[in-house]
Amino acid sequence: MPLRNVYDPDNIFAKILSGEMPCVKIYEDDETLAFMDIFPQSKGHLLVLPKAPSHNLLDAKPETLAKLMPTVQRLAQAVETALKPDGIQISQFNGSVAGQTVFHLHVHIIPRYEGEDLDRHAAMPADIETLRPLAERIAKAIS
Ligand code: 5GP
Repeated sequence: MPLRNVYDPDNIFAKILSGEMPCVKIYEDDETLAFMDIFPQSKGHLLVLPKAPSHNLLDAKPETLAKLMPTVQRLAQAVETALKPDGIQISQFNGSVAGQTVFHLHVHIIPRYEGEDLDRHAAMPADIETLRPLAERIAKAIS
């Protein structure tokens, strides 16, 4: 997969954005959506997406990024309040060689806990029923 490619409107996050595929939603506004990562690398791992289509950071419009980052900050603050992690890792991958597996721009918010290593990236599916209460706790903490 090239670093920049034609946006595929059938990618899994486009389908989640259109409602064609489900997600455990935490937050939504006119420009952004946040939901639980289905293969979490730690307790509370979530994703924030712009609704505007772009392959990754490299082809995103500056105005898309300007709408995305405040939501990333609000969700990171909500994770801090709700889950009280010892750290919060924010990551974003561009190109499959860099670890990108879904080609609609998204930012990972990954709570980090003292003494706990991350689980492998996009590897172990979570039980949806364990994600719902976490999503509710994070959503309640959004200010
Ligand atoms: P990337 O590797 O592209 O940065 O991250 C894609 C992320 O999306 C991975 O962490 C993976 O676990 C997650 N993911 C892949 N498919 C789905 C899905 O259908 N639903 C949700 N909620 N997350 C997904």
